[in-house]
Amino acid sequence: MIELLETLQPIMLIGMFILMYSIENIFPYLQRPANRKRHYRRNFIISILTFLLNAFLGTLVVLTIELTAKFHWGLLNLLSLPAWVEILLGILLFDFGSYLTHNLQHKIGFLWRFHRVHHSDSHLNVSSSLRFHPVDVIVAQCIYQCIGTALIGLSMTSFVIYGTIAIPLLIMQHSNVKFPGKLERILSLVIATPGWHKIHHSKERTQTDSHYGDVFTFWDRIFGTWGKMQPHQIQYGLDEFNEDKHHKVGYLMTSPFKK
Ligand SMILES: [Zn+2]
Repeated sequence: MIELLETLQPIMLIGMFILMYSIENIFPYLQRPANRKRHYRRNFIISILTFLLNAFLGTLVVLTIELTAKFHWGLLNLLSLPAWVEILLGILLFDFGSYLTHNLQHKIGFLWRFHRVHHSDSHLNVSSSLRFHPVDVIVAQCIYQCIGTALIGLSMTSFVIYGTIAIPLLIMQHSNVKFPGKLERILSLVIATPGWHKIHHSKERTQTDSHYGDVFTFWDRIFGTWGKMQPHQIQYGLDEFNEDKHHKVGYLMTSPFKK
């Protein structure tokens, strides 16, 4: 079952991309930009890079998990817990580690230079989901995931279940779609819904530096990094990326190295 889920993840990612692209073009939540074809094209090029890099780095994470299990490294390998508790705790701890890493990507200037490529998008839609600088992908997907899995003693089962939840959620969060009000309110008590995550893409720095959770919202609630805001009242992007030339692939890739 877990092997099947793991095999299906790339298909799930592409399927979700196509589904959300169709929905946001039939029922767009916010008005679409006039230059949306160019916007899709530029982000799509970066998305392919992110996808390929992720596929490669994913093998390093899987190798770390195998080594962790073999040598009984990490917290969960030191405890004798029932299997279901270990799986659940693994998922929660892994998401908490991702929350902490995301905090660092905003607070450490060097990491923010790369992470802001993702935040620079002034129009959120499905193509924004994988608009990441390769160095940002290496920090979040490789350095964190390798260190995190080893410290936690994460099992392959927890890792695959986490990915199966996180991948479709990542695509949904950035798409130009909206959950019905009541569903959004109830789900966002636990899950980082599209409405919840879009606040993280606000131009307003206090909002950008909030709503860090990838899958669960309770880390933000526990540590006070959240606030109430209606996504449609938000202006997306960053002030320093306010011209069209700032959204060209070449500029986005080289911008972290510029003064
Ligand atoms: Zn961020």
